[in-house]
Amino acid sequence: SSPYTTELLTDTVKQAHEKARNQTGGENASYIPYLASVDEDLCGVAIATADGRLFEAGDSRYEFAIESISKVFTLATVMDSIGSEALREKVGANPTGMPFNSVIAVELAKGKPMSPLVNAGAIATASLVPGDTADERWDRILKTQSAFAGRQLSLSEEVNLSEQTTNFHNRAIAWLLYSAGTCYSDPMEALDIYTRQCSTLITAVDLAIMGATLANHGVNPATQEQVLHPDNTAHILAEMMMEGLYTASGDFAYTVGLPGKSGVGGGLLAIAPGKLAIAGFAPPLDGNGNSVRGQVAVRAVAKRLRLNLFQG
Ligand code: GLN
Repeated sequence: SSPYTTELLTDTVKQAHEKARNQTGGENASYIPYLASVDEDLCGVAIATADGRLFEAGDSRYEFAIESISKVFTLATVMDSIGSEALREKVGANPTGMPFNSVIAVELAKGKPMSPLVNAGAIATASLVPGDTADERWDRILKTQSAFAGRQLSLSEEVNLSEQTTNFHNRAIAWLLYSAGTCYSDPMEALDIYTRQCSTLITAVDLAIMGATLANHGVNPATQEQVLHPDNTAHILAEMMMEGLYTASGDFAYTVGLPGKSGVGGGLLAIAPGKLAIAGFAPPLDGNGNSVRGQVAVRAVAKRLRLNLFQG
């Protein structure tokens, strides 16, 4: 039976939320108007176990924009459809060591985006989603996100509009990829579906279940659906360890020792393979673009449950 008893996890999530809630600092993302307007005091924490239990505290049912965390799930569906080696060859599997929307990283690697978890690599990955039209590709992405969450998710028209009308930097990235031959569809179409995939709304509870699906070899513990090929979860978790928190990925590996993924909407996910997933949500971000209080919450849970992978 699981060493993570219901009593232990109930107390852990409550304590982590308490600690996170009291943490100050950081600022909402300001470059996307919608995100700047979200209540900065919101703070939610959730833990979902691979054996199907759920624990939550605070604003764990507040719907926020998934943003960059969506990169993980588009990666999953493309990896399943073209294969992990083709994905690695076309997009790459190495950390850039640079901010998430760096164009310099693209130039340095001669147009190869390197990681599917930064904007360039995520736009390239979106260009590989199967489908004949943008709507068909988008449908596939939304279905994948929903299957991971175990419920029908939906696009926020408000977030999407806010992003589509301000994503000039990402347009430059898409064209840069296209000129290097590493955008595999029309670049503005790839960017359109990438931007939509960032604009779906999730809660900390959804995020924890999405993560628990990765912790559980691709089987959603809430619905029992096999959402992706079991062999692909290890590749995805490796990517998350290398690049999931952008330029702070090394710090996160050093201090927490778990694969993670952040989004500028304030979401943060960490995964203990085979065991559970931890989701934190709080809008203010640090200078690397990672949720300040989300990190506090995830660290607290990981520490209390001794989840660091490198501790053995
Ligand atoms: N939609 C955002 C962007 O492309 C997502 C970035 C993020 O969450 N880091 O800039």
